[in-house]
Amino acid sequence: MYISLARKYRPKRFADVAVQSHVSNTLKGAIARGRVAHGYLLCGPRGVGKTTLARVLAMALNCENKTDDGEPCGVCSSCTRIWTGSTSLDVVEIDAASNRGVDDARDLRERAMYAPSGDNHYKVYIVDEAHMLTREAWNALLKVLEEPPPRVVFVFATTEPQKIAQAAAPVLSRLQRFDFKRIGPADVRARLSAVLATENVEATPDALAMLARAADGSMRDALSLTDQTLSLGEGVLTAERVREALGLIAEDEYLAIYDLISAREAGAIFPAVARLVDAGADLGAFLGGLADIFRAALALALGDESGGLAELSDRTRESLLERAGSLTAGDLLRMLSAITELEPRFRRSGQQQMLVETMLVRFALMDRTVSLEEVLRGLGPDGGGSEDSDGRGAPRATQPRIPAPTSAPARPSRESSPAAPAAPATAAPSAAATALPLLSVAALRERWEAILERLRADGRMTLVASLEHATPVEVSPSGEITFELAPDLGHLEQPIMHGAKELLAAIGAQLEGATRMKVRVPLSSPVREGATRRLSAEAVKAERLSSLRRRDPSLDAAVRELDLELMD
Ligand SMILES: [Zn+2]
Repeated sequence: MYISLARKYRPKRFADVAVQSHVSNTLKGAIARGRVAHGYLLCGPRGVGKTTLARVLAMALNCENKTDDGEPCGVCSSCTRIWTGSTSLDVVEIDAASNRGVDDARDLRERAMYAPSGDNHYKVYIVDEAHMLTREAWNALLKVLEEPPPRVVFVFATTEPQKIAQAAAPVLSRLQRFDFKRIGPADVRARLSAVLATENVEATPDALAMLARAADGSMRDALSLTDQTLSLGEGVLTAERVREALGLIAEDEYLAIYDLISAREAGAIFPAVARLVDAGADLGAFLGGLADIFRAALALALGDESGGLAELSDRTRESLLERAGSLTAGDLLRMLSAITELEPRFRRSGQQQMLVETMLVRFALMDRTVSLEEVLRGLGPDGGGSEDSDGRGAPRATQPRIPAPTSAPARPSRESSPAAPAAPATAAPSAAATALPLLSVAALRERWEAILERLRADGRMTLVASLEHATPVEVSPSGEITFELAPDLGHLEQPIMHGAKELLAAIGAQLEGATRMKVRVPLSSPVREGATRRLSAEAVKAERLSSLRRRDPSLDAAVRELDLELMD
């Protein structure tokens, strides 16, 4: 009969659970000193050894030949019975996912009252998926833990301790809590390597890396995936065999997508994704794999030639090295964060293919971050740009990877004026680093409520109250916003300008490109006009515009939509 690797190599001693040594050493020490608690809470992701350690603890408590430092022998009849999970009077394993009602908890409590099978024995209850227990069940358990019977130990294992905190805070205070760590790929590889060596199976480093990545931090999964691969063939365990057995997406597929993005071949994204879907690829796994590739490329771009790439095959690492510089660190960061943002939405979506396609097309079309070197190259052969007497230092337009400055959207008027300063290219990376909509009057009005909401959340109540009477009426090509106050409310200009910094920050969280702002007070009546001695040309223009707009609603709409400015 074939015994699975996960079962065959399940640890029998605390020392075997080296990855969680912070937990196993503490428990071993408690056994050695005879200071075992009545209740433990073992928290951590699935497959990291929670139940395994609970069993080793039960073995150590009941082993007749345990060592002085607290290790169970692993071979006596008690150890063997507990380790194999066969019937043992002293260990009760409960899956809370299927035994969560109050009746079971009462039953548990009554059974806990019974003494262990012998004078030297401990009764150990291992409750798996403990977060599934009901509040009533916890209440029943609390009574047991308040007056614990001698030599009875409860071990609760859970992937979601916060749920227990909500349902059973008083119980938590009576448990010793241990947090298990996710098992890193290097630890998984090392363990797989040792197991396969014992099994006399030769495996390539790439194959181990691929298995470790697929296991995603779970040692149990790593071993069962290895089982799955071994059952489908013989000989050396290669990356190719792992990929076929597990239905993984080939790293070449990721590299192909990477190339489409860096070559800006947006149109080729659709057939590429269709090919993946036709091949039965799980698009969620694809997103994860793509993020791994980008992360590795990012590590490379930042000069780390090994650390960030530990989970990749050597071949893919070399392929990425060949592509070095085709996407900058800034580009890679933006794409990585876009993937991270998409993921929670993605799992629930019924339109995964569309989401992946649009994201990749966006990547292929996105404005690229400009590296400092490129900017300097664009400045001329001496790299100084000092010949530019106007000092603007704008790069030559022939640089293909320098995007149009996103802070200055195309507008019909003024844009071509030679007096309009070109946005310096060095500002592009930060401006391009977000995918927010561009600032315009229409966009401002659309997002106005959200902007005010943020100011309210920040406690800027005076500013918000003043802004109730202000309307954004104009956005200049350089990103200066003009607000207009209702007539006769000129006194609000000061509180608004006082909060300009906060307001611009709130706008910046919604829209791209706001730089400055000003407040305009239209002159409402001839009386007032007469009273104001110094009328700037701008104020005159503003007054003309607002009176024109009041007279003609369609003009008003056009001014708003196109962000026009009336010329004399
Ligand atoms: Zn033993």
